[in-house]
Amino acid sequence: MSTLNSAKKVIHELKKQGYEAYIVGGAVRDHLLKQPTTDIDITTNAKPYQVSKIFKTKPTGVKYGTVTVFMGEETFEVTTYRIDGEYLDGRHPDMVVFAESVEEDVKRRDFTINGLLMTEENKIIDFVKGQEDLRIKLIRTIGNPEDRFNEDALRMMRAFYFQAKLGFQIDRSTREAISLLKDKLKDIAMERVLQELIKLLKGKHAQKAIQSMVTTGVHEVLPGLEKGILHIQNMEDIPFVDAFFTLCFTLHGSIPSEWSFSNKHRHRYEIASMLANTYNEFDAHTLYTYGLDLCLLANKVNYMLNRSRNLKSKIEEDYKNLPIQSDLDLKLRASDMIKLVNKKAGSWVKTLQTQMVEEVLKNKLKNEKSALEAYVLEHVKE
Ligand code: ATP
Ligand code: MG
Repeated sequence: MSTLNSAKKVIHELKKQGYEAYIVGGAVRDHLLKQPTTDIDITTNAKPYQVSKIFKTKPTGVKYGTVTVFMGEETFEVTTYRIDGEYLDGRHPDMVVFAESVEEDVKRRDFTINGLLMTEENKIIDFVKGQEDLRIKLIRTIGNPEDRFNEDALRMMRAFYFQAKLGFQIDRSTREAISLLKDKLKDIAMERVLQELIKLLKGKHAQKAIQSMVTTGVHEVLPGLEKGILHIQNMEDIPFVDAFFTLCFTLHGSIPSEWSFSNKHRHRYEIASMLANTYNEFDAHTLYTYGLDLCLLANKVNYMLNRSRNLKSKIEEDYKNLPIQSDLDLKLRASDMIKLVNKKAGSWVKTLQTQMVEEVLKNKLKNEKSALEAYVLEHVKE
């Protein structure tokens, strides 16, 4: 956790050396909204090499004029004033061009609420009417929205992310520009888009942001979302990152290869989606086989698709009441079975264990040592 007070110490040091410096971006926004902030950005006219002469630093993104400054346990991203060069690939500024004034630096930033500056003395400097937009809860690009999205299409996803995080409206001309330019998102590396989407889905107001994605038509250009998103109904149960992707999977039969999920995640969404498509209710056998987590996920997806009621508490209760949750819970161990029938270990052990698990789950057999022993003696094959 980095604090504003320590950030002000960094600013103080920079100013002592004759430079200008301000806290900028998300930290100022969150401070004014009285919300906790994670990382603190500082903008300065000192060049990266000049910053590294004053502090202990790490060159995080020198190409973009950024160094990380260490102050004890705390870190700060210190970036030199810049204007963005030509955006050749619609994403990365071709080269960093340092700017003369902080005003120019603010003007290259994405939204007015992210363009506020704070001085060492707690004074807010506002070149972009960001304070007014914070007050009326509006997400609005700095400058002409079409130009700004043409420069960097990822900003469209960022607009939805900030909506999900803050619950603000997106300004009309900003929304219209998104509708118009949404296809540009296809040119951006999918993992970048996915990153923003996942951040968005964790937001308190994710439902609102998803609505906006639908009204602007952005869901049509993101593979795997074009069908699913329209069907989402019950989303009050946040966060629902996993449920969201499982749902896309459920409606599409696969996760588009463009989405760069780890195999572990992909597998999880695959199984949960299979479960959602197969079951409306989760009996003891299913709960035992797939476990609580995947069954809850499958139910959540069915609930979001209005295919079933929200069975969360019933599933949790039923799972808790399972006579066994794994074959290790059987009161007769494999070694005891072998001793009991005096037979060499072999596949028969597993076969009998599986049968006993089934019987116990059906409540046809008690999970007690004597009952299980009797079962083994009766069912073991010579
Ligand atoms: P949070 O960290 O809470 O998600 P943030 O506003 O700090 O929100 P970051 O992604 O950390 O967002 O970026 C820091 C600042 O850099 C932003 O506030 C904004 O001023 C600027 N910024 C980030 N990404 C872009 C972009 N794609 N185009 C223009 N400016 C950007
Ligand atoms: Mg940030």
